Amino acid sequence: SNSEGGEAMDFTQSHLWQQRADAVILGGVNSPSRSFKSVGGGTPVVMARAQGSRFVDVDGNTYIDYLAAYGPLVLGHAHPRVMEALRAATYDGILYGTPTTWEVEFAETLRAAIPDLERVRFVNSGTEAVMTTIRVARGATGRNKILKFAGCYHGHSDAVLVAAGSGPSSIGVPDSAGVTRAIAGEVITVPYNDLEAYDEALAVHGEDLAAVLVEPIVGNFGIVPPERPDYLAEVIARAHRVGALVIFDEVITAFRFHYGTAAQLYGVHADLYALGKIIGGGLPIGAYGGRRDVMESVAPLGPVYQAGTMAGNPASMRTGLACLEVLRDPAVYRHMDRLGAALEQGILASAQRHGVAITINRVGGAFTVFFGSHRVRDYAGAQATDGRRFAALFHALLRRGVFIAPSKYEAWFVSAQHTDADIEETLAAVDASFAEMAA
Ligand code: PLP
Repeated sequence: SNSEGGEAMDFTQSHLWQQRADAVILGGVNSPSRSFKSVGGGTPVVMARAQGSRFVDVDGNTYIDYLAAYGPLVLGHAHPRVMEALRAATYDGILYGTPTTWEVEFAETLRAAIPDLERVRFVNSGTEAVMTTIRVARGATGRNKILKFAGCYHGHSDAVLVAAGSGPSSIGVPDSAGVTRAIAGEVITVPYNDLEAYDEALAVHGEDLAAVLVEPIVGNFGIVPPERPDYLAEVIARAHRVGALVIFDEVITAFRFHYGTAAQLYGVHADLYALGKIIGGGLPIGAYGGRRDVMESVAPLGPVYQAGTMAGNPASMRTGLACLEVLRDPAVYRHMDRLGAALEQGILASAQRHGVAITINRVGGAFTVFFGSHRVRDYAGAQATDGRRFAALFHALLRRGVFIAPSKYEAWFVSAQHTDADIEETLAAVDASFAEMAA
């Protein structure tokens, strides 16, 4: 990479591949966030291979990777233990459609790490995991409504593609074409970190609420932790008071900050959990689970249906197990926290040097650089940050071989394989980028 200017970088092959992609893949990408639409345009970079903290594009440019594939790659790319598990999995065939020993061991490992997972089911994505917890909550309570928090992302099932209504106690409106008003009408959206708005919504809708769904530490409008240490405990207690279940969407947070959930960090217990990303070690996965009495409403034991041809596939189980084995060592998390702190301090110092107004929200090795001087505690605060300046930083870093997610609402993720040298190189690129932006 090149922290001095990066004008030498050539993207010819990326452009050619992206032209071919545009002709066959809708929008040229298999997930909208991969386009550069949120950073003022430009051609997405087409990657070719990856190792450790870095990936290399089809033109041979190398990048220090802070995207981490939107979260799963807590061990970085091609971690030897994960690759070994994946290779071993291919020797034994790849899919049986029957129970396997791997899924049992993996479920036992998850439950040992997260005792609240009294019963678990494996699925193939975070979307599926969250979608199913909602169905389970409705089935178990006999109620219909769901309360979620503005700006949280819970995958793309219909019920969670709903935006806030016009007031804290109003019902939601569809956030995507194809989501019906009837579905949106069963979803209530309130601001995160705001117990008053939450209470207001519970007062109006409490009796009809099947579940409250929350990212305990938000990752989807940037990293935003609970402001009050008792926030999550209060969210749970007040939901239970009206007879609603609580679902923690820990698709990003589980095993991101320590060997377990965000719930454990705050000493609280949700009724149901949705997991994904990290637990697959980079292969497709999702999982949901929680209280045994609630989970027992799922087929074959109960009336709530959920199934999957690929669910618990041996490769994902084995790479997931390998990933968790590595994460068992607390030194891994200390390392990411130390590098995260170094980046936070360095980026803040650099911004100050160049007169660029930013604030950083960081939890361990995950953080978001917001362009603005206000503290970001909810979605409105994240929306109020400067997207143009973020886009400028994104492109300036890209040209210097530092790859961050192409959206002001995402996080930088440090991995176990990032090094002090990576951080130094990144901070030099950040400093040059801020200098360019201030000029
Ligand atoms: N829940 C959260 C908190 C997420 O961040 C995501 C994905 O970014 C999902 C659910 C959906 O997961 P997937 O993309 O695996 O379907």
